[in-house]
Amino acid sequence: MSEKLFSRAKQVIPGGVNSPVRSFRSVGGTPYFVTRAEGPYIWDSEGNRYIDYVMSYGPAIAGHCPPQIIDAIQQASGNGTSYGAPTLSEIEIAEEITNRVHGVDTVRLVSSGTEATMTAIRLARGATGRDKIVKFSGHYHGHADSLLAAGGSGVANQGISGSSGVPASAVADTIVTPWNTIPELDSSIAALILEPLPANMGVVPPKEDFLAELRKLCDNHGVLLVFDEVITGFRLAEGGASQWYGVTPDLWCFGKVIGGGLPMGAYGGSSDVMSNVAPLGDVYQAGTLSGNPIATAAGLTQLRLLDARAYERLEIGAKSLAKGLCAAFKSAGIDAVVPQVGPILSIFFTSQIPTNFDEAQEAAENGKYAEFFHAMLSRGVALAPGPYEALFPSLAHTEEIISKTIEIAHEAALEITQ
Ligand SMILES: *Cc1c(COP(=O)(O)O)cnc(C)c1O
Repeated sequence: MSEKLFSRAKQVIPGGVNSPVRSFRSVGGTPYFVTRAEGPYIWDSEGNRYIDYVMSYGPAIAGHCPPQIIDAIQQASGNGTSYGAPTLSEIEIAEEITNRVHGVDTVRLVSSGTEATMTAIRLARGATGRDKIVKFSGHYHGHADSLLAAGGSGVANQGISGSSGVPASAVADTIVTPWNTIPELDSSIAALILEPLPANMGVVPPKEDFLAELRKLCDNHGVLLVFDEVITGFRLAEGGASQWYGVTPDLWCFGKVIGGGLPMGAYGGSSDVMSNVAPLGDVYQAGTLSGNPIATAAGLTQLRLLDARAYERLEIGAKSLAKGLCAAFKSAGIDAVVPQVGPILSIFFTSQIPTNFDEAQEAAENGKYAEFFHAMLSRGVALAPGPYEALFPSLAHTEEIISKTIEIAHEAALEITQ
């Protein structure tokens, strides 16, 4: 069934998928086609049920198909799907965001994380009158041209495009530098953009005080510090990574959790910086579907489910999952580490938690992840089909579900040692 659907998909969609990681390229095999999802589970077209840790790569933090969000979507959609005029629900979600994230005075809604980071860069350039930006290798900021520059392994690189189709001119002002090493900044640089807790090269936490040092460095050179919190926002804590680490950037980018499973992103900051955005200022950004009434209804409902108690539960779940996975690998005699920060974790088949992209790549490219992925999938646990993705346990991943996952991980770990 999956095979059939996949070959049919490949006839009409490039590679059969609408986002490359879904294609199973890096783990091999045929992707399962999802027919429905509920709580911690997804079901595929063959009727198999899986405990899901992909969770739409983050958005489904309250579990799949939470009744409150589905109700909100149904109610909102009964009033129309899009108007091209302001609505109360845009104000409400903006208030919710600014209340949660200390330092965000105003926020602009867009339709994806990519739009948020792309615009934050434009805004930083407009606000500073400078062109250059600095990013860390291994950090993912969506697929805008200037941010696809990845840079050579570990060494600061300038203007190396990470995708064909990105002209050298588009990345000429992008400087790539290694994570967890203090970069050199100067007064030609508009912005330093980063994932405050990188989770797109596996989870590679910042070293102690690293973010605070970056904050100081940016202040010294008039560089705007941009936190790409598309994953960490409303996941790591009520106020995201800036609250978790106690470091306040100049601009924030949000996505994933914020839309409750519908397409939505946002960028925000101080009123001062944000006043550069049109119609107040001369940095242009717009969107036909921005602030879409169904997306804002879903997002607002999801945010309201995420109180302090919810974050406690998410963290407890992630902690026991990380501990259980470590125990499973250890008892099977497999070298593996499971970095976990709050509700976010990932798996590396190596003996030490990587501290930068070079180390992460070395750990990710040894083929072990693909084996473990398939051993888990065949036993009913869906991890992301790529070694650089995080696991996203949700509020629906109860103690019981996590224990079950750990039990299965013990069996899967034994299988891959054989
Ligand atoms: C997913 C992601 C993005 C891009 O968001 P999209 O909604 O996929 O465009 C940007 N930054 C980070 C950190 C992400 O994880």
